Amino acid sequence: MKLTIHHLYADMMNLYGDRGNVISIKKRCEWRGIPVEVVDVGLGERVHPTGCDIFLFGGGQDREQALLADDLSGSKGADLRAIAEDGGVVLGVCGGYQLMGHSYETPEGERLPGVGIFDLYTEPRKPEEARLIGNVLIQTTLGGRARELVGFENHGGRTYLGETEPLGEVVVGYGNNGKDGTEGARRNNAYGTYLHGSLLPKNPWFTDHLILSALRHLDETFELEPLDDEAEETAFRSVAGRISGRRQG
Ligand code: GLN
Repeated sequence: MKLTIHHLYADMMNLYGDRGNVISIKKRCEWRGIPVEVVDVGLGERVHPTGCDIFLFGGGQDREQALLADDLSGSKGADLRAIAEDGGVVLGVCGGYQLMGHSYETPEGERLPGVGIFDLYTEPRKPEEARLIGNVLIQTTLGGRARELVGFENHGGRTYLGETEPLGEVVVGYGNNGKDGTEGARRNNAYGTYLHGSLLPKNPWFTDHLILSALRHLDETFELEPLDDEAEETAFRSVAGRISGRRQG
């Protein structure tokens, strides 16, 4: 049983260290002796699911997003939509997240078509509006447990959800649009978020949630052995405490 990490547009969509998400998944598999492979999926290349996969789509500037929108508009986008609908594990961050919705409109008024995994759309900030930048703390419930995620956001786009559920509720920060208190999106095992950082090294529980979801796509009885996350959890508490002003126990 080998887990394949499909890194979408690795060289173009890697803002604020999103590549760390690939490294975090890879290391947490290797530390458990789980065979893992990273496959870069660039422009013009199709995705080839193996049955045990995680698809990662990082953040990027408007220029890169415009280049990708065309690449996603044909069979590649249809493949990703089918993978998500079949319960495949997908994580989109910021610019990648925006292109997992119906459309992303740039500040210049260009409406880029998205893949349509999530029922959402993204509008540009108004000239008088600032970019949404800063540390973020959200609350979410995954696998029946209430959890928190920390990260860093820097986006001009304002995302509005339709029927799609949010990934979580904003505790500190802006989230999808700085107005409705939602952050990110989720549908089956597909997740979108504005949290860079990169996200997964700062939130090891979420990394393991994605790994377990991918492995259980092959064997629904699979269990992950726990790792010693003392250092990671200390770092999380420190960041979450600093962001929220909470005392650190
Ligand atoms: N270009 C998009 C925006 O500004 C996404 C930016 C990003 O990926 N950090 O909203």
